[in-house]
Amino acid sequence: MKITIKAPAKINLSLDVLHKREDGFHEVEMIMTTVDLADRIELTMLEENKIVVDVSEGFVPSDNRNLAYQAAQLLKDKFHVQKGVRIAIQKNIPVSAGLAGGSSDAAATLRGLNQLWNLGLSLDELAGLGAQIGSDVSFCVYGGTALATGRGEKIKHISAPPPCWVILAKPPIGVSTAEVYRNLMVDDLTHPNIKNMVAAIEERQYQEICQQLGNVLETVTFKLYPEVQRIKDQMIRFGADGVLMSGSGPTVFGLVKHESRMVRIYNGLRGFCNDVHAVRLIGERYY
Ligand code: ATP
Repeated sequence: MKITIKAPAKINLSLDVLHKREDGFHEVEMIMTTVDLADRIELTMLEENKIVVDVSEGFVPSDNRNLAYQAAQLLKDKFHVQKGVRIAIQKNIPVSAGLAGGSSDAAATLRGLNQLWNLGLSLDELAGLGAQIGSDVSFCVYGGTALATGRGEKIKHISAPPPCWVILAKPPIGVSTAEVYRNLMVDDLTHPNIKNMVAAIEERQYQEICQQLGNVLETVTFKLYPEVQRIKDQMIRFGADGVLMSGSGPTVFGLVKHESRMVRIYNGLRGFCNDVHAVRLIGERYY
């Protein structure tokens, strides 16, 4: 038996850090939304009791460091599953990019194995398990648009922003989220106004959403990798309606309403950045 599932990327419309907690994690407030750029995960049931991962990108680990592997292992351990699975991952989401590619693969694996192994778990239960793998996995279990708090695992669904294009541009560097957080000065931040952003989304005020975009990790990543700032500046200059770095970077996204302008910005960016995608914002939950 075999099933194929999509594992979409996310972007952060807002990312705020409130303080560092005693357990070492940071208390965050983030607004995340799903975009139409997805890895493709194929799960094949194996009679033999083992987990096998095949990844299309050679530099992504296929052993127990792979988050999809960890998702399968977690379900096997917790529910004493005696069957195995082959997880084939076609990577389309750039890696170490701030787009939660690995987390989304893990979330899709949880959803898919729930079906394949007949576990009968609810999405809420899967999201709870996902939090044990990584802070972004819970959101990725549901997709859609949400306010994420705690260390990112507490999810409150909100309505989808109005439809638009999202241009994603990733400079040829990988950013370590841990390194960015290590360099963050939590007492010295200009906080985005999350309440205003939630209101703008709920009221479908596209221009206001573009105005309210904010990510406290930008300044840290810009200092470590000035090319990320340069991509942001270019996207603004080319005329995107709103521009922000996603997660800890280095991907920068631009929101654009009109297709003709999207094409112009996309072509302009391709001139000096290899990894550029123009996709639709999904925003709606489809699980
Ligand atoms: P986030 O936005 O949640 O910080 P990210 O998009 O920055 O995530 P990922 O693409 O998820 O980063 O990858 C981060 C690290 O995780 C990489 O070092 C990669 O080798 C490892 N990894 C583990 N499993 C996967 C996977 N299934 N896909 C991609 N990377 C994975």
